[in-house]
Amino acid sequence: MKSIITGISGQDGFFLSKLLFEKNYEIIGIVRRNSSMTTGTIEKLPHEIKEKIRIEYGDLTDAGFFARLLEREKPDELYHLAAQSFVGYSFQNPASTYDVNISGTLNVVNAVKEYSPNTKLYFAATSEMFGQPESTPQNEETSFKPRSPYAVSKLAGFWTMKTYREAYGMFISNGILFNHESEVRGPEFVTRKISMAVSRIKNGKQLVLELGNLNARKDWGYAKDYVYGMWQMLNNGTGDDYVLGTGELHTVREFVEIAFQEVGIKIHWEGENENEIGLSDDGKILVKVNKAFFRPLESDNYLADASKANNKLKWKSKTSFKELIKLMVKSDLQQTIEK
Ligand code: NDP
Ligand code: GDP
Repeated sequence: MKSIITGISGQDGFFLSKLLFEKNYEIIGIVRRNSSMTTGTIEKLPHEIKEKIRIEYGDLTDAGFFARLLEREKPDELYHLAAQSFVGYSFQNPASTYDVNISGTLNVVNAVKEYSPNTKLYFAATSEMFGQPESTPQNEETSFKPRSPYAVSKLAGFWTMKTYREAYGMFISNGILFNHESEVRGPEFVTRKISMAVSRIKNGKQLVLELGNLNARKDWGYAKDYVYGMWQMLNNGTGDDYVLGTGELHTVREFVEIAFQEVGIKIHWEGENENEIGLSDDGKILVKVNKAFFRPLESDNYLADASKANNKLKWKSKTSFKELIKLMVKSDLQQTIEK
């Protein structure tokens, strides 16, 4: 089986590469060139996997690149993971977010349609499309009310995929994935920001962790569990839309408390709102609130109802919230010591 992964240098690309390697797939990874010629999470893969990945350099915004690629390779499966994926950045850079996430996605699906219509296509949609959800929990029937340029761009991609599936009979699955994290999560996302800071604070390399909204609540799972769901979506009957999530909500505050517990520090809180601080037992201020990290609009009522994926794909989120935090802090502690 031959696969193409866009966004292979990101978090999900890392775990999907591992999975497809285990399944003996031929893997072609799309990487955009940067001046240092680094390849993101690919560099963290075991060498036997790295050596099997064929890298093709290309940018999502280049329609010609994808047309030539699909005409030449005609893969069995294409996982379209590449995106400007950070909600906060999308408020500051909405135009480039739309270019990459909307036009870029159109380039991918058009190339599949024109040059390799038998390729099964996965699109990385998101729970962010629900915006301020009208009902809880959310499933495939819940209506979408996006509340960030990122969410708007992903909803455009999602509807493009649905339209092409229906209009041209293409095999396309949209994964409406809730937040999933890991030891290779981008450092700007709150979970990794916390696990890295806790490890550095424990080792005396950082004094304070500054965060935005501590009361923000998310449905957080482990990325490894979620990429398995992506593969299942292309290997089960026909293309369809599926929600993947844990069905549990936790606050940023809980994440902080458990992460510090992992290194033997108990946090207690004092003050309110932007003046709230988190202190250790010996009175050191370890957590502060900084308004710079607040979002212009917050969407914190996402809770997944993944019963469709559970029934049709037998998919389940396996890793608990505590296990997720444990493995992230453990990995960052190791990296802090090595540096
Ligand atoms: P990452 O941000 O870790 O990875 C994004 C990838 O897209 C990177 O490989 C990045 O390359 C690549 N990319 C960005 N812009 C371009 C471009 N113009 N041309 C080519 N490649 C580009 O995201 P994740 O792995 O966490 O997520 C995978 C997908 O799933 C994304 O589409 C994301 O929006 C979506 N998603 C993620 C969720 C999550 O919780 N992780 C939840 C729901 C959806 P580079 O390394 O060069 O930056
Ligand atoms: P997102 O759900 O894709 O936006 O993932 P993030 O990890 O960026 O944010 C998750 C939640 O954490 C959001 O509700 C943020 O408002 C909240 N949050 C609180 N403090 C921070 C912070 O310092 N950085 C980030 N990235 N998010 C924060």
